[in-house]
Amino acid sequence: MDAKTTHILDGKALAQKIQSELISRVHSLQSQKGRPPGLAVLMVGENPASATYVRNKELACAKVGIASFGQHFPADTTQTELEQAIQTLNQDERVDGILVQLPLPGHLDAISLLYQIAPDKDADGLHAMNLGRLVRGEAGLRSCTPAGVMRLLQEYDIDLKGKRAVVLGRSILVGKPMALMLLEADCTVTVAHSRSQNLESITREADILIAAVGRPEIVTANMVKPGAVVVDVGMNRVVKEDGSSRLTGDVDFNSVQAVAEFITPVPGGVGPMTVAMLLQNTVWSWENQQG
Ligand code: NAP
Repeated sequence: MDAKTTHILDGKALAQKIQSELISRVHSLQSQKGRPPGLAVLMVGENPASATYVRNKELACAKVGIASFGQHFPADTTQTELEQAIQTLNQDERVDGILVQLPLPGHLDAISLLYQIAPDKDADGLHAMNLGRLVRGEAGLRSCTPAGVMRLLQEYDIDLKGKRAVVLGRSILVGKPMALMLLEADCTVTVAHSRSQNLESITREADILIAAVGRPEIVTANMVKPGAVVVDVGMNRVVKEDGSSRLTGDVDFNSVQAVAEFITPVPGGVGPMTVAMLLQNTVWSWENQQG
């Protein structure tokens, strides 16, 4: 392949393809199961970005034939009230996936709520049990965003075996599970973070560079090895001079696309893949539900 050609990793198109596959899977099993798959997205408070994400997830569920059991709680909901709601959903046989939309208002403890979700209904793959299964290389529900990145790399036949991968960011949501999945795919993995020194020398080693930092366009062309695969997980809202805002990633797309061989756009790259993996996790739990 010509190293000077830049290929766009089109997450939007792939997400649509995955949704079509899921529609068939749901259709073919539904009469045997006697009910559709079910997902409950729990949202607390009025964060406008979260409200948009929740709405997109519910619309995507409807397209695929997943029933939504979402609940919207007022901002002053207590930890105990949410724990009770999760326990009720854990027992509800119509529900295969439960997701707590983050971030939560400051008085709530997100980690302890995630522990309340039954591991086999943990649609976001963030319960310690599922992260543990990932560490051990066992089957289980995988964190949606890094799983979406892996699926995107697979779709474009990107060879990972023995390649040097650098993950920028070490959050539980993205960076750490991402590093584990790349390791599982036989990459040699480096994880960098806010305390890493001489970032450019680290990132320039990467055949596969994943940016999950949350800093607009922090990755510039000089930080990228020519011919690298660059995946931009970042979703940053940047306010322009006229007061309007635009969505941008962690990668300076315009400069980096001149150097990289493959690159994801923002929007239309990792974002739609995250939603597709959430639907896939819910259908997977439904297919594997006992009884
Ligand atoms: P996070 O929890 O804030 O973690 C950010 C990570 O980046 C941390 O590990 C931090 O290091 C590191 N970091 C911060 N500044 C840095 C710097 N200057 N140089 C190197 N590393 C730096 O964020 P997150 O939840 O992982 O999300 C990261 C980004 O992905 C955000 O823009 C978020 O909106 C986006 N996101 C997108 C999707 C999607 O579907 N596309 C899904 C989830 C998240 P320390 O650990 O040292 O603080």
